[in-house]
Amino acid sequence: MTSAPEVAAIRQAVLDGAPGPELGALALPAAYRGAVVRADEQEMWAGVPSEEKDPRRSLHLDEVPLPELAPDEAYVAVMASSINFNTVWTSIFEPVSTFGFLGRLGRESVWGARHDQPYHVVGSDAAGVVLRVGSAVRNWRPGDAVTLHCNHVDDQDPTAHDDSMLAANQRIWGYETNFGGLAEITVVKANQLMPKPAHLTWEEAAVNALCNSTSYRMLVSPNGAQMTQGQTVLIWGASGGIGAYACQYVLNGGGVPVAVVSSPERAALLHEMGVEHVIDRKAEGYRFWTDEGTQDPAEWRRLGKKIRELVGVDPEIVFEHPGRSTMGASVFVCARGGQIITCAATSGFMIEYDNRYLWMNQKALKGCHFANYREAWEANRLVCEGRIHPTMSAVFPFEQAAEAAYQVHHNLHEGKLGVLVLAPEEGLGVTDPETRERLLPQITLFRRHGG
Ligand code: NAP
Repeated sequence: MTSAPEVAAIRQAVLDGAPGPELGALALPAAYRGAVVRADEQEMWAGVPSEEKDPRRSLHLDEVPLPELAPDEAYVAVMASSINFNTVWTSIFEPVSTFGFLGRLGRESVWGARHDQPYHVVGSDAAGVVLRVGSAVRNWRPGDAVTLHCNHVDDQDPTAHDDSMLAANQRIWGYETNFGGLAEITVVKANQLMPKPAHLTWEEAAVNALCNSTSYRMLVSPNGAQMTQGQTVLIWGASGGIGAYACQYVLNGGGVPVAVVSSPERAALLHEMGVEHVIDRKAEGYRFWTDEGTQDPAEWRRLGKKIRELVGVDPEIVFEHPGRSTMGASVFVCARGGQIITCAATSGFMIEYDNRYLWMNQKALKGCHFANYREAWEANRLVCEGRIHPTMSAVFPFEQAAEAAYQVHHNLHEGKLGVLVLAPEEGLGVTDPETRERLLPQITLFRRHGG
């Protein structure tokens, strides 16, 4: 299936550097291509173990109608996108089917009803160009090069006006809403728009927002652990999507990262980033669970001893996300008075830890989820200023978005996987080549180690 002629014209205009008014005057297509899961396939994995649920069978490139634009929204032509783990969850319909989210949003308002469709256009990251803005949008216009963050907030809800991540109906765009970023055109609220870093290509600019903002809130923000200089931070999955940004934040903030990975290649990558202390969990052979219902505290102690050997202290902060497989160890090894900050549970959400170590040693276990606009903006500003770098290790054509999701599902990737959507090839979209040249070794670190 090829792009609609209107989409092809939009792509060409962006590539030609057409001015904003010209882009804003281009005809919009009646339909566009997006990576979707289909409601009539929600039950396709019944009885199939998680590892065998294959996103390549459930994620399709379908043509879907372009929805009407609400006054506070923008259409964005997506030059590139990326794969996040939430697209894996959607494609394997775990822990729940995302069509339930779309149904609830559909009942909320007239504009919300657009989202309740028999298909779900997924994707929670993108970089591209604004095509049209709704009548209430003030700060953005057609032609603006943007990256998109995924916090979808209803600004008429009073609970959204302290920390918007505490809003009663806060949602993640492209996961709990329709019309996500793995598509030729996406629909976002104006308060999801952020400037594209000028020194990055479309695909490098597309991979950061979700994971970078999450790690920023978890480690830097007062809403998270608010790391201070000299603190030791244990980072699980340190070469993965959120872990690789976490390492950068700890290094930037004068902390001491202790990074956990599962191969010598991943350890080498992090050493090149400047992380001195790396633990290869496979080589160490940790078995925190002896069987499905029993953990082995001796293994927690072995990890704690290893960390003390490396840095001489217990970690004041543990950056948690594997969940069931590691939480017992995370609570145990965390320093007295320290914090375990968690945003996920990749290996299982029914977790178990020995509460005596938490209360007797005055530790805190804190949940953390994505980022508010201010946090996402600050995290993006650091990318724009070349202080935080993309962690993109490989790039896939749009037609292989499902293959990229499969690789993330099976932990075959490092950092982030980019997806070219309207960008016909890699390397386009840079408008500040001088800064790029200066920062090239850092920008391409993961690419050099990846596919
Ligand atoms: P990712 O790119 O797949 O990285 C996860 C890393 O975790 C892997 O590189 C792997 O590293 C490690 N890992 C996987 N299974 C593990 C296990 N059983 N024990 C120890 N380490 C394990 O994924 P991601 O983008 O970093 O996301 C991680 C999780 O956070 C996902 O569940 C995602 O949905 C969630 N998330 C939540 C938010 C939020 O806002 N709440 C935002 C972003 C991501 P090694 O094999 O090298 O150790």
